[in-house]
Amino acid sequence: MSESEVLLRKMYAALLDAYGTRKWWPAETAFEVVIGAFLTQATAWRGVERSIANLREAGRLTMEGIRSVTEEKLRELIRPSGFVQRKAASIKAFVQFLDEHYGGSLEQLAEAHTTELRIQLLTLPGVGPETADAILLYALEHPVFVVDEYLRRVVTRHELLPANARYANLQSLGDGAIASPTREETARHANELHALIVEVGKRHCGTTPRCEGCPLRPFLPDAKSKPLY
Ligand code: SF4
Repeated sequence: MSESEVLLRKMYAALLDAYGTRKWWPAETAFEVVIGAFLTQATAWRGVERSIANLREAGRLTMEGIRSVTEEKLRELIRPSGFVQRKAASIKAFVQFLDEHYGGSLEQLAEAHTTELRIQLLTLPGVGPETADAILLYALEHPVFVVDEYLRRVVTRHELLPANARYANLQSLGDGAIASPTREETARHANELHALIVEVGKRHCGTTPRCEGCPLRPFLPDAKSKPLY
């Protein structure tokens, strides 16, 4: 395990101590996780919640609900999440992919091999690495670490990786920090660490870091003597 991985593991323990387990993803079903993974792109979670509520109220928060809704109506229902043209088309394309290749079943999708499935997901419209990994981990319970902007901020501000680190480098750091003997344990830690990073990001590590009172303050390099920027 590298020095950075060891440090991230310690930061994970500190976050767990401070915030406890987060019980992510905030959704009632695996399909809702998938929908949320598309809707949350470039959008605050409040907008996602309103879109999910609209879909639920309209009886569209199911495979069949999305299959049978028109794209125009779907755009209207998810309007609070923004980027509705792209997101509605992406959600419809995902359901079509599931129907064509996995009998319309998320359970069947979950049985596919992680690496092959990730490659397949990445070919779909509107699916980048973060969305693919969020679906793999939170909807399908594959042991995949999800990288987002909050992780990038925390990791680079703590100098575990350079500011221009690529998604794969950040993911590899996370993978190293949560490495566990079993697939289930790895998935559990991947879930928890990502959720905790989002929590510290929302509370402290936004565009402007608020380090005072942050549980990760003791891990800042040369915390007392060095300004952050
Ligand atoms: S707010 Fe400061 S101490 Fe907290 S994670 Fe961000 S850089 Fe680290």
